[in-house]
Amino acid sequence: MAEYLASIFGTEKDKVNCSFYFKIGACRHGDKCSRLHNKPTYSQTILLQNMFQNPQNLAVTNEFGQSNAASIMNDVEAQEHYDNFFEDVFLELEAKYGEIEEMNVCDNLGDHLVGNVYVKFRFEEDAEKAVDNVNNRWYNGQPIYAELSPVTDFRESCCRQYEMGECTRGGFCNFMHLKPISRELRRRLYGRRRGGAGVGGGAASGPMVKRGRSRSISPSPPIKRSRSRSPRRRRRSRSR
Ligand SMILES: [Zn+2]
Ligand SMILES: [Zn+2]
Repeated sequence: MAEYLASIFGTEKDKVNCSFYFKIGACRHGDKCSRLHNKPTYSQTILLQNMFQNPQNLAVTNEFGQSNAASIMNDVEAQEHYDNFFEDVFLELEAKYGEIEEMNVCDNLGDHLVGNVYVKFRFEEDAEKAVDNVNNRWYNGQPIYAELSPVTDFRESCCRQYEMGECTRGGFCNFMHLKPISRELRRRLYGRRRGGAGVGGGAASGPMVKRGRSRSISPSPPIKRSRSRSPRRRRRSRSR
């Protein structure tokens, strides 16, 4: 019996523990969820809630049909803005608290996922230090909310359909839609490492990755990044 319970822990069959919280570190029901959100006491991963503000999502049009400055940002500028944010946070956290294995930012729009930043440190102690300190800080005029997150395997948290460019739930999908950083930044941040890491922020990514539910904990082999990951990127290359 104990073995059975262990085998279904955190899956949809588990009627006690919330599978969304377990896999994604955030569930749309939040504190009102009927299943348990088991907050980890130790983890390599921290979650910085809603930290990245995408200027393209904030864009509003006024009654005269003029849009605010942020919405004028084109795709290239938006990518640059995002890369700057990513590099900023990554380098500061790594310099202050310790080596980062991977960092991922959600592109989802639902309240519980929008702008979520997940940082997986190499050591649990570093993650703990980071959570304690970062919680007293502000970024871009907003207080930072940080917590230890149960997420360790981002391949389990990501939306497969999205990676194939086929997610019909769009921004309100409850699995992670990770926002990719530019190739140059990826090389700068992760290039000095063997193997590479990560789904959105690392090297092992794209539809080529086999994402079976196997229990294997061996690291996935370095996989060549496929070129067309997001529908947006694909569209751009076609229009040329
Ligand atoms: Zn839940
Ligand atoms: Zn999705």
